[in-house]
Amino acid sequence: METRIQIRFGELSTKGRNKRRFIQKLAQNIRFATKEFSQIKIKPDHDFIFLDLNGADEKSVIEKLKDVFGIQSFSPVYVLPRDFETARKFIVDLVNDMEPAGKTFKIATRRADHSYEHDTNWLNAEFGAAVLESIPEIAVQVKKPEITVRVDVKKEHFLISTKKYQGAGGLPVGTSGKGVIMLSGGIDSPVAGYLAMKRGVEIEAVHFHSPPYTSPQALQKAKDLTAKLTRYGGNVQFIEVPFTEIQEEIKAKVPEGYLMTVTRRMMLRLTDAIREQRNALAIFNGESLGQVASQTLESMIAINDVTNTPIIRPVATLDKQEIIDIAQKIDTFDLSIQPFEDCCTIFAPTAPKTKPRADKARYYEDKLDVDALIQRAMDGLVITNITSELSSQQQNKDTFSGLL
Ligand code: ATP
Ligand code: MG
Repeated sequence: METRIQIRFGELSTKGRNKRRFIQKLAQNIRFATKEFSQIKIKPDHDFIFLDLNGADEKSVIEKLKDVFGIQSFSPVYVLPRDFETARKFIVDLVNDMEPAGKTFKIATRRADHSYEHDTNWLNAEFGAAVLESIPEIAVQVKKPEITVRVDVKKEHFLISTKKYQGAGGLPVGTSGKGVIMLSGGIDSPVAGYLAMKRGVEIEAVHFHSPPYTSPQALQKAKDLTAKLTRYGGNVQFIEVPFTEIQEEIKAKVPEGYLMTVTRRMMLRLTDAIREQRNALAIFNGESLGQVASQTLESMIAINDVTNTPIIRPVATLDKQEIIDIAQKIDTFDLSIQPFEDCCTIFAPTAPKTKPRADKARYYEDKLDVDALIQRAMDGLVITNITSELSSQQQNKDTFSGLL
């Protein structure tokens, strides 16, 4: 008996001409997510992707598949020789493993090969009777049974399945192009990055830090958060931007009320320059409407003024609690609430304007050498390839202990 996992992809099937590309990308991403099981075979088909376990551990593979965007649902399917007796025994064992006492069940047979000697009614009745005989505490129910055993009669095999797992939904990462996510160490931006990936965007993370005002731990925290996101789409490039000089310059030359607006405009200019250099199409961030002074609509207008690039704010309309719920689900929350200040908190003015104006921000920026500041920061970018959920700190530790 072999196990194969049948993967369904819902939304993709409506994509017409792009369908082939989508399926290929999804197959690639599944390959990547299950790369530790090299024996697995992945076979894209028209309406499904089949994954042959070849002995890989079913439970572990199922856990990996739950994180792959673009999968609607999937079912382990057991491939049996087309022999009635074998199938009968197998079905009884299968139901027995599902804690069947007090539950209802049905057998749902489909015959792709009509030349098979028995019809579906006969098979349903025979398999059903076998289950009832050996499991006395179970009852048949056709309408909404708790256990459904699907039997597909194929030319060579019986395909038997009982379980259907919910997939992560969304689109395969990479099919919507590339974007940069402005990733702080907070709760919101990792969630925004995750949601971007959910809609098929391959992300690179941009992080501003201002040593010595911000600590190495704050930088490490942003890297660790990025590492958490690799689970959903593979490697992520982490781009750290030296921001100290710019923040000091702004602090020295811009009045208190416009500190925040000008700082955000500089961050956005830099992010846009990085986006262009990295051939990405859009900018994502973790802004949520009304959360703080920089996140009013007026503020967005004044900050957005520096670029025409689409800025997508996946959590803009979510309540804090809704964002936290997602952060907990993707396991970034505990990291995010670690108390390391990032560059914005440290230079934060006590009373930022909630309704700043773009023309005033431009006026104050005339006192800065914006182009030279941007250029120097761009010259100082440090790019790290974050490859796995094991935090880079942990990876460093491991290398280190290997040397001791
Ligand atoms: P978060 O929880 O993501 O930090 P926040 O609610 O604290 O968000 P702000 O600190 O005002 O909001 O930041 C708004 C957005 O600006 C962040 O979600 C993030 O996308 C971006 N941002 C802020 N600080 C940084 C930083 N140091 N590096 C990169 N992006 C940042
Ligand atoms: Mg923040």
